Amino acid sequence: MNNKQTESLEFDKNHVWHPYTSMSKPLPSYLVSSADGVDITLASGEKLVDGMSSWWSVLHGYNHPELNKALVEQSQKFSHVMFGGLTHEPAIDLAQTLIEITPAGLNKVFLSDSGSVAVEVALKMSIQYWHSKQKPEKHKILTVRNGYHGDTFAAMSVCDPVNGMHQLFEPVLMKNLFAPAPKTSFDQLWDATDVEELAAMFAQHHQELAAFIIEPIVQGAGGMRMYHPEYLKACRALCTQYDVLMIADEIATGLGRTGKLFACEWADISPDIICLGKTLTGGYMTLAATLCTDEVAHTISNGEAGCFMHGPTFMGNPLACAVANASLAIIKRGHWQQQIATIEKQFKQQLQPLITHTRVNDVRILGGIGVVEANENVDMAVIQKRFVALGAWIRPFGKLIYIMPPFVINSEQLSVLINAINTVLDEDDCFQSQ
Ligand SMILES: *Cc1c(COP(=O)(O)O)cnc(C)c1O
Repeated sequence: MNNKQTESLEFDKNHVWHPYTSMSKPLPSYLVSSADGVDITLASGEKLVDGMSSWWSVLHGYNHPELNKALVEQSQKFSHVMFGGLTHEPAIDLAQTLIEITPAGLNKVFLSDSGSVAVEVALKMSIQYWHSKQKPEKHKILTVRNGYHGDTFAAMSVCDPVNGMHQLFEPVLMKNLFAPAPKTSFDQLWDATDVEELAAMFAQHHQELAAFIIEPIVQGAGGMRMYHPEYLKACRALCTQYDVLMIADEIATGLGRTGKLFACEWADISPDIICLGKTLTGGYMTLAATLCTDEVAHTISNGEAGCFMHGPTFMGNPLACAVANASLAIIKRGHWQQQIATIEKQFKQQLQPLITHTRVNDVRILGGIGVVEANENVDMAVIQKRFVALGAWIRPFGKLIYIMPPFVINSEQLSVLINAINTVLDEDDCFQSQ
């Protein structure tokens, strides 16, 4: 690294917050100089195979010619205009595509800037909906434990109350309701008793419930757990039976990651509201969307406020929409299905066998998601450095070491990631002894 780069890193350490990090005891960050395909190149010269898709958002790889082109072309027309009173084709095209590809009935599109905001919007929609129906007492949200829905206040109020460390904010959070997390895993035999407690909570609380929110099939940042499609089906049935809106948070699962375009398709259900984010621009820029049914939209619009009470400054940013359209055009060509099937097959051949390792508690695989749950927490500083030395960009949390690579990864590159996990499992200093 040159002097400037060394100085930059030092400044970063002293002044720049990173996600969930300490400013007193910062863990090292690695300076990136470029990224291309599935490779991230560091200023130090090391080239890493990306196993994280930049928090699950990159689909077609970095520095993609079609996405670059869409971004440059739109920037030469206009990069942004306000969305109040003005509109533009990038946003209109995106809305059309989203209505076409998402589960049936989701016909109204609200664009926003990040996943957490898409969740805020969904929760506000459901509260306004019941207000318009003259049932303001229906304002609580039901969810399941082990969920993750974002870091803003309302989103935090539906995250797992224990592992999200959100009890810190407990006095100011919305008081929502938590059912046990789904127990039957994706490929186990369905056990109908799994939904009993959830059903009991619907029965007891439906008169105060505005909505039920869940991550379909895969609980992501709350534990990387894959649960049974019958559970999701039961959720839909309970929402209908008890007149509670169903919000599907597909911010992590949407656009192919689980092997279906949307994870809701595993259970063949449509929610009343869906949240999309992370993957929407193929990992290029920040953009999110909340879609709802005509009934939800018109009920809100005919209520006391006469409109939906939300409107971000950068709503429908044209650059982000243009890139999203280019990314969705690649998705529509359909190669993602083969790409995910190929990744899943290699996970089953090479990652699944790690289950026999003494340090491993569980291995879970679904589509382009491969998870190794260790018996002990990792030592982040040590394990991160080891992964970098092994040419892999993998960022575990807690006991979970997982891979969610860009769809375009090849088998050789995926082997680099899997072999790196295999290697660190034998290294005691990568784990915190109990
Ligand atoms: C990441 C994530 C969010 C939050 O999105 P941000 O863009 O980080 O605000 C919400 N829900 C799920 C399921 C996520 O994975």
